[in-house]
Amino acid sequence: NHKDIATPIRTKEILKKYGFSVKKSLGQNFIIDTNILSNIVEAAGLNKETNVVEVGPGIGALTEHLARASKEVIAFEIDDRLLPVLADTLSPYDNVSIIHQDVLQANLKEVLTEKVDLAEPLMVVANLPYYITTPIVMYFLESVVRIDALVIMMQKEVAERITAAPGSKAYGSLTIAVQYHMDAEIAFIVPKTVFMPQPNVDSAIIKLTRRTTPSVEVMDEKVFFELTRAAFVQRRKTLWNNLLGKYGKEEAMKEKLIQALDYAGIDPKRRGETLSLTEFGKLADGICLKVL
Ligand code: SAM
Repeated sequence: NHKDIATPIRTKEILKKYGFSVKKSLGQNFIIDTNILSNIVEAAGLNKETNVVEVGPGIGALTEHLARASKEVIAFEIDDRLLPVLADTLSPYDNVSIIHQDVLQANLKEVLTEKVDLAEPLMVVANLPYYITTPIVMYFLESVVRIDALVIMMQKEVAERITAAPGSKAYGSLTIAVQYHMDAEIAFIVPKTVFMPQPNVDSAIIKLTRRTTPSVEVMDEKVFFELTRAAFVQRRKTLWNNLLGKYGKEEAMKEKLIQALDYAGIDPKRRGETLSLTEFGKLADGICLKVL
């Protein structure tokens, strides 16, 4: 019913009206293609019972699609120059709250409690500022607020790391940190041409869906995540070398580490990138039992 924000003509009009010049340092690449926005909303499977958190509404291109498809939209925007723009472009929607805050500094639970019922389904849908993609993903995964799913646009390269399989070059501690809690899939690839200005890298929409239980059962999550980070500190080196780097090189420690590897049935000459989440889980348990 309302004219979409995300057309090249309307976007240029809005930027001109407010004399707005984009800040590259804030990752400001605005979507100017309504099909992409419909596809994002469809991938998210939104409905009027679901509340949505958006990071970086920009001039409101995605926000208005979220407002039409969901219950409440809470959008964090760091750039104060966008506040008058958003007040204007989103004026037709009464279910959008713009929070002027760096999302990474925000107390998510406090902000959301004021606006929505946290017992209702909650999703993050956003075209992320690429300079902080990983911190934002981890911020939502580690939040005390339970996010049921995230449908987010990011650099294709980071999307590939998050969805990677063991043995591939892209597989690493980020893969494991995300896939421990979430099922991860690339929904679709997005060409540079749908942005204004165009970014330097290709993009992808990924969908992360919260698992009912973590993908591997471990005795101690902290030990598991420390181990998975340590295993990739020197990617080219063996698991054994990285374990010595993390836990120590003394003879007594080597003896314990061998016992832990033995417990997990893992060859110390393998590289970290070949271990599945299940194998890392077993080794983390071995470290709990034999090393720590
Ligand atoms: N959603 C809009 C779109 O798709 O056209 C804009 C997306 S643009 C890639 C990223 C947005 O995130 C910008 O509006 C930028 O100002 C905002 N942003 C950057 N860093 C932020 C932060 N730390 N917290 C909240 N918003 C941030």
